[in-house]
Order: sequence, then structure tokens, then C-alpha cells
Amino acid sequence: MALTHNLGFPRIGARRELKQALEAYWRREIDVQQLKDQAKAIRKKNWLLQKEAGLNLIPVGDFALYDHMLNMSILLGAIPERFNSSQHDTMVDLYFAMARGTSDQSAMEMTKWFNTNYHYIVPEFNRQTHFQITSEQLFDEIKEAQTLGISPKVVLIGPLTYLFMGKETEVGFNRLELLPRLLPAYRNILSRIAALGVQWVQMDEPCLAFELEAIWLEKLSEVYTTLHGSGCQLLLTTYFDAIDKHTATLKALPVEGLHIDVCRAPHQLDAFLPDYPANKVLSLGIIDGRNVWRADLSQVFATLSKAQSLLGERLWIAPSCSLLHCPVDLQLEARLEGEIKGWLAFSVQKLNEIVILGQGLNQGKASIQTFLQESVEVRQARQQSKRIHHPLVQERVKKLTQRECQRHLPFAQRQSLQQHYFQLPLLPTTTIGSFPQTTEIRKARAAFRKGKLSHLDYLEAMRAEIQHVIRQQEEIGLDVLVHGEAERNDMVEYFAEQLWGYAFTENGWVQSYGSRCVKPPILYGDIYRPEAMTANWISYAQSLTSKPVKGMLTGPVTMLMWSFVRDDQPYSETALQLALAIRDEVKDLEQTGIGIIQIDEPAFREGLPLKKSAWAGYLKWAVQAFRVASSGVKDQTQIHTHMCYSEFNDILPAIAEMDADVMTIETSRSHMELLDAFVQFAYPNEIGPGVYDIHSPRIPDTGEMLALLKKALRHIPPHQLWVNPDCGLKTRDWTETHVALKKMVNAAHILRNQLIPIPNQT
Ligand code: GLN
Ligand code: ZN
Repeated sequence: MALTHNLGFPRIGARRELKQALEAYWRREIDVQQLKDQAKAIRKKNWLLQKEAGLNLIPVGDFALYDHMLNMSILLGAIPERFNSSQHDTMVDLYFAMARGTSDQSAMEMTKWFNTNYHYIVPEFNRQTHFQITSEQLFDEIKEAQTLGISPKVVLIGPLTYLFMGKETEVGFNRLELLPRLLPAYRNILSRIAALGVQWVQMDEPCLAFELEAIWLEKLSEVYTTLHGSGCQLLLTTYFDAIDKHTATLKALPVEGLHIDVCRAPHQLDAFLPDYPANKVLSLGIIDGRNVWRADLSQVFATLSKAQSLLGERLWIAPSCSLLHCPVDLQLEARLEGEIKGWLAFSVQKLNEIVILGQGLNQGKASIQTFLQESVEVRQARQQSKRIHHPLVQERVKKLTQRECQRHLPFAQRQSLQQHYFQLPLLPTTTIGSFPQTTEIRKARAAFRKGKLSHLDYLEAMRAEIQHVIRQQEEIGLDVLVHGEAERNDMVEYFAEQLWGYAFTENGWVQSYGSRCVKPPILYGDIYRPEAMTANWISYAQSLTSKPVKGMLTGPVTMLMWSFVRDDQPYSETALQLALAIRDEVKDLEQTGIGIIQIDEPAFREGLPLKKSAWAGYLKWAVQAFRVASSGVKDQTQIHTHMCYSEFNDILPAIAEMDADVMTIETSRSHMELLDAFVQFAYPNEIGPGVYDIHSPRIPDTGEMLALLKKALRHIPPHQLWVNPDCGLKTRDWTETHVALKKMVNAAHILRNQLIPIPNQT
């Protein structure tokens, strides 16, 4: 019998119940027991839902109050020294201290989980790190599930991935040295799980999807030989990309099963199927866990039938990865248009697809014929739908020429034109776009959305805010001003709502980190911009000041990365459509007299494939899309871009290829580490490495910012250097913003005076 299972279910709750409980607990409105009860209720609901759907094996251990990597750290007792547990009332408080920090303990680092928009808490390792079971949570959850009649498959992050995704906090120490201490702890965990009567453990080892260095790969056999025979059967689970390079090793590995992602890497099936070992299960991740489209069941069934003929009983089927990355339930979408809704499947619907496929394999194709037929019809209807096709847009993409992908003059000449026109001082000061989003602003936006505030009243409220922002910036003494982005709820949604080809959900939430969720818009069709999206706001701001106001747009790559994107054409094609829409907006801004335009690309790095060998392909189309968006303007118009919160050192040449006149970039948290890359690669255009971290309430002194700027000047010639914060200021309040920016402007002035040569007295 082909077994059906799931790798993980969204834990946030269909109506973000976990978010509400967490935030209520943090505000001290509920106590720890109430929080635990709420978490238990969510788990119960999720398990029963999966059981009722008809899955054979249901994941336990996929739930986390904050993050599943942090759960592993607590389970393994890898608690950094500074979180002396005696200071925390409960384990839960210790756990949150690690995730979020306290007044005197800084939080553990948080970063993106592979190439998803989910963030995990990075384990910290040093020579002192020891592992021993420190939390009973997992074992309690197993018992909890068993009481409900659930047959659990326990989910753990595998030892290799756990170590790999962590970071050393001690120089000269290599975290791989911890493996001999880590493996016994894992063995203990496995025996405790086995003692509870659990048969299967899903060992997530997604790090195998990277192109790992040999020293890591060599450990794979050692790890699983050590864990073998601990009482549970292990399903070594990989996702997000191909692992077929390691087919031979994996087939020989002493584990009872493998799970591979055949959505992101369909080709790898051909590597695994032939001579697949008789004593191993092969689980196929065949329903996409990272997107929202209904599967083409008949095509999937054909693939599975072929696999079944070779594997027989050893075939399992599952989503490609944990459904953590997918919204919960499409049924909650009452407002989504019927036609589009018919094309989609969220977590609950995806599990149904798995069950249907399992039924087909076990009871014969005829038993699911109606479902297969329906999914073919849905696919066809989607392909033919008028909503998807916009011939003009397709035509424009086809006709794109090289000329439209580059500015007329090279940077050096543009720079002198721009200098002549704007007459900006040396080390110009600016911000990244947003200013504090006060409660009043949010209220006005919400009231307008609900129809409680008239259009005119809303306009007035926003205009008043723009006026305020402009006055503040003038008072602070900034050189290039912004309008403040008060009208924007979200930098992607705001634009998506004004473009054709996008749909929106009411409850399509996906966890981003902790209690924070995002609701990515659904990009289903050709992208078309019916009218100007931002020009009114920006030109209003410009009418209030004689200083240049910078127009703010979200770039094509970020629009793509932060949406659920259509799967019926390559991303590169969709990126060009977005790029053309933004190009038109850039031109409109220019025409209304805006001379400086910033196209934000914070998600630029996120799109990088896990395998380095595939980077060039991605960078080529991503850079191209940015260039299409940005090069429709006169040479005198100054194009900015902004990137933040990732490492950029290794893709600096590609960033330079984007050919923005000015790039503002996050660096202050890493004390301008980025500049190290400038030794090898001289960044050719102007650049503003952020001089203060806007994600922290801490306001650095002028001297601190001055020191960072001086450090920057060692690598960047003064006429190329800008002065700005790290990122947008929307999460800060006005008082701190004002003080911080004043100090920043002051630092720029001091340095400017030092740089301008004192006229010769003789
Ligand atoms: N312009 C945006 C802002 O200032 C940029 C946000 C971002 O980089 N994520 O908020
Ligand atoms: Zn940013």
C-alpha cells in the first residue's frame, strides 16, 4: 500500500490564533497556562484535521511556539551562556528570551530559512556547547497526539542541518567539532521517542540541497550510522532542491527511507528510481508545499504510477516540504473570486490532493477518475482564461530590446549631469523611504479601507502626514527628502493592488517569524499597470519643498519574491512583466518632475538558488529585470536602489551590473563588513552604506556614525559616498527618529567640513 503523509502543518492557526495568543502573553494579558492551552488546542485541531483528511502518518513535533530550530536548541540544551535559566520563571520565558531578547540579554540571531521568507533562530556554538535533553515538550506532544488517537511520525531537524544552520560564536572554532557531542544527544532523543511506541522519525536534512563542502558531506554516513538502531525508523527528509548528486551515498545510507522534493527538482526522480534499495521507503514530495496552485492531478498520478511500478509498497507520497510555507485553508476565502479560487489549493486542500492520489494508487485509477478529470479541466480553464492573458503585455516583453535594458550614457557621464543638476553637497544625506507609521496613520488607512473614512478625508489625512514628514526633514537638514510612505500598508501589496494580474486573500497568512505573518498576494496573470500608482503622492510632496523629493517604488524582483507566483511560465518572464509596469511608473514620476527615483530591492538576494552553480542564471534575469524597470529615464534622472538584511559581499559584481546611480545598503549591524568586499571589487557607482540600525531602539552617537563613515571612506571615494540609515523608519517613533537623523546629519556635516580643503591663505 502506498502511504500518505505530511511533513509539517502550518502552526499559526487558520485565523492566526497562535499570533493572538503569543502577543497576549507578551503583553501579560494571559498567563503561561493559557498560552499553553491555546497552543494545545491548535495542535489538536491540526492533528484531527489531518487525521480526518485520511493521511496515514501525521507529523508531531512540527509545532513551535516561536520557531522549530529554536525548539531543537531547547530540546538539545544548546542554550547560550547569557540566558542563565534561573533568571526566567518558566522554560517558556527562557525560550522567548532566546528568541526575542530581554532588557539585558540580546536575542539570538534570526535569519532566513533557506530561500524561503520564513526566519529561524540561529543556534550559537562554541567550545563550551554541550548537549543534553533539556525540554520535555516534544515527548509531551507525542503523548498528547497519541491520546487523540493520532499515529505520530515525529519530526526533528537532523544533526547535520542543525549544526550547519548554526554559527560559531568563537573565533577559530569549527562547529563540526561538536558532532561527537551532538550525536549521543540525538540517540537519547530517539530512544525516548521509540520508548513511546513511535515507529517513524522524519529527520529533516534540507542542508543537503546546498552544494556542501566535502567536510560536511563526509559526515553524512557517520551521522546516520551512529543514529542507526536507536529504535525508530528514520526517514531522511530533504526539500527545496535536488540532492541527486548524492544518490549513491543516500541509497547506501543506513536509514529506512528517503524523502525527496520532486516539485522543485522533478528530474531527480530518474536518479533515485533505478535500483532503489529493497529495504527503503522512497517518499515523493509531489504536491508543492511552497505555492498555492492546485496540482495537475492527472500528470502527478502518471508520475506516481510509474514510481509505484518500480517501488510497490515502498512508495510514500507527501507535500514537497512542510506546509509551513503555505496558507491554511482556502475555504476561509469568501471574497476571492470563484474563477481564481478554483485554481488554488492551500494546506488543507493540498492534503486532500495527497489523499486522493494515495487512493488512486491503492484502489486503482478508476476510483479517482472524476478528480483527475476535474483537475485537467481546471488546468485547461486556467490556461485559457482571459484573466491570465494580456496580449499587449506579452507583445511588449517579446519586443524588448537591449536598448531598453540600459541607460543611454555610462555612469561617469550620468554622474556629472546629475551633479550639475541637483548640486548636492558632498556626502549627501537621505533616508530609505518610510517614516514612523503612527497609530493615527494606521487608523486612517483602516477606516478608509472599511469605507468609514471618505476618500477626501483620507486624502487630507495623508496629505497632512506628508506635510509633516517634509517639514521634519527640512528641519533635520536632510538633502534628499522622501514623502514617507504613509499610504502604504505593505511595500508589495500596495503596488500589487494597483496592478492587473494579482489577487488577494483575507486569511492567506504565512508565518514569517514568531508571531509575525505575511499575506503574500497571488500573482496569477500577465501584469499590467492601468494607471500611475504613486505620482500623485510624490508630486504633492515635491510641491511642498525646494529640496529634491525622491520617489519610492518596489522593484520587480522583490514584487516577485514576496508574492505567490504563477507556475505556468518561467519567473524570468513574469519578472520582465513586472519590470515593464514599474518602468512605466518610473517614467510617469519623471514626467511629473521627480528627478530622483528609488526602486527598492530588499529581496534581491533571497531569490538566489541554493546551489551556487545556479546563481549566474538567476542573477542574469534578476539584474535584467531591474535594468528594464530603471532605464527608461533621462540620464540626468538619478536612480537609487535599496537592499537590506542579507549578505551582499558575494554578489557585489551583479549588484553593480544593476547600474543604479546610487545604492543604499544595510551595513551598520555588521560594522560595515560589506566594505571588506570592496578591497577585491571597487563598486563603481555611488553608495550609501547604512550608518545606523533602524531595527533597534538604540540611537548611536554622532561619533559612532562618524567612525563608520570614516571607515567607509577608506574604501569609497568621497564623491561616491552617501549618508543614510540602514532601512526604512516605519517601525520607529518620531522622537527617536528625529534625534537619530539629526545626529546622522551632524556626522555628515562634520566629515564634509573635514573633507573640503581649506582655501590656501597665502
Ligand atoms: N522604502 C521602504 C521603506 O523605507 C524599504 C523597505 C525595505 O527595505 N524593506 O520602508
Ligand atoms: Zn531595507
